[in-house]
Amino acid sequence: MSALSAKIENLVIIGSGPAGYTAGIYAARANLKPLLITGFQRGGIPGGQLMTTTFVENFPGFPNGVKGPELMDLLKAQAVRWGTELIEADADEIDITQRPFQVTVEGKKIFSHSTIIATGARANRLKLPNEEIFWSNGISACAICDGATPQFLKEELAVVGGGDSACEEAIYLTKYGSHVHLLVRSNRLKASAALADRLNKNTNISIHWETEVVGIDGKDWLSSILIKTKGEQLHKKLKIKGLFYAIGHTPNTELLKNQLNLDSNGYIITNPGKPSTSIEGVFAAGDVADSEWRQGVTAAGSGCKAALSAERWLTMNNLSRLITRSSETPKRSKTEEKIPTSNKENYNPKAIWQKGNYALRKLYHESNSPLLVIFTSKTCGPCHVLKPQIKRVLEELEGKAHGIEIDIEKDFEIAKQAGIKGTPTVQLFLNKSLKEEWMGVKQRSVFLNALNKLIA
Ligand SMILES: Cc1cc2nc3c(=O)[nH]c(=O)nc-3n(C[C@H](O)[C@H](O)[C@H](O)COP(=O)(O)OP(=O)(O)OC[C@H]3O[C@@H](n4cnc5c(N)ncnc54)[C@H](O)[C@@H]3O)c2cc1C
Repeated sequence: MSALSAKIENLVIIGSGPAGYTAGIYAARANLKPLLITGFQRGGIPGGQLMTTTFVENFPGFPNGVKGPELMDLLKAQAVRWGTELIEADADEIDITQRPFQVTVEGKKIFSHSTIIATGARANRLKLPNEEIFWSNGISACAICDGATPQFLKEELAVVGGGDSACEEAIYLTKYGSHVHLLVRSNRLKASAALADRLNKNTNISIHWETEVVGIDGKDWLSSILIKTKGEQLHKKLKIKGLFYAIGHTPNTELLKNQLNLDSNGYIITNPGKPSTSIEGVFAAGDVADSEWRQGVTAAGSGCKAALSAERWLTMNNLSRLITRSSETPKRSKTEEKIPTSNKENYNPKAIWQKGNYALRKLYHESNSPLLVIFTSKTCGPCHVLKPQIKRVLEELEGKAHGIEIDIEKDFEIAKQAGIKGTPTVQLFLNKSLKEEWMGVKQRSVFLNALNKLIA
């Protein structure tokens, strides 16, 4: 479709972290009906980096802290309530060299007069030899998602890094591991004083200063790493079952290379104190343009500035097409319904989604429909993203397949028997036989296609 015949959006927001959703709230309240592309796998997950953390204690308005995924659910609900339209997919191509701007999503081109880039940043890897082999087999970039995995329980673990994330992850992992080694490249922590204090008081953590990982080893699962400490001649072997990376982030700007001014580390350069960029009508918000502050609240603040700037720019250039609301205040947003764990009394063989080992055993032994078993853990943000996707697939199939959620901490033995290496993991069964397994967040179509093959 050419840009001449296609609909041109007022504003496309790319990214669904605090910056993207806040931009959505402001632009929607300005009656711009923004379209927000949430992202899916390319540079993070819907909801962004806070989906991979436990408690956020410093976002204003939550005196007792708030869970990262819960905060992001609230921001999303607020953006949607005021009329932000969401597309749950990645932007695969961005062309801001011509007008209208173009974003390609799942093969479809979307045109817009203005855009806000809020694609945040993604976790770095060490790029060690063998890293690919042990990725998800002992190495992880998300302690909060994978810490409860059976293989880590009561084993020695290590975290690489010296900032806030590394300290938070090391403390968190002492819930599961017998001991945690924190491997810090320099001779000091970059973490906040409060976090460093908590870390230093934890006797289950040893800090290895001026230390780097130089090798990893194991059979099917990571069993040891080789570390090099400054000033020591010999490398030391640490017997550990889990290695967690918390070594910083890279901004998600690959799709913008050679189009927009970026700094030497890939961050978008904005005009001083403003969200405007080297291209008129293109605004940047959040971590993607901020190598210094990188906080939920600073990202949200810059999302607000970007939306207000976009609104002014569209008005000044006579480009906005305002949407009139039927009522001044939209309906209150709904919260997700909580499903109880199944037992003898409430088990329903026809339900498309149930929870816990009782329903799993019943359906596994008695049903001849495909069964998706979704292994999750309480603090796993990606699980939070994946569950509604799978529920939608099962609803579309109208009861021809079932979903069972298994919390790997509550049903530890089942997770162990199933060989779960991290969450989320999804296993597809038919007549007691394992047909497929997926780790991490996957597109809805992946599950739909696999189920359709078994249903046909
Ligand atoms: C473990 C951890 C703990 C943290 N704890 C705190 C805390 O306690 N308090 C605090 O204030 N901050 C905390 N932070 C920092 C905070 O998470 C970030 O500063 C904030 O999330 C940045 O928001 P953002 O919207 O700029 O980007 P992000 O949150 O990174 O979101 C980026 C979004 O862009 C999307 N995206 C990327 N590429 C594409 C694409 N091609 N197409 C479409 N979408 C795309 C991603 O899917 C994602 O939704 C923490 C970070 C981490 C990693």
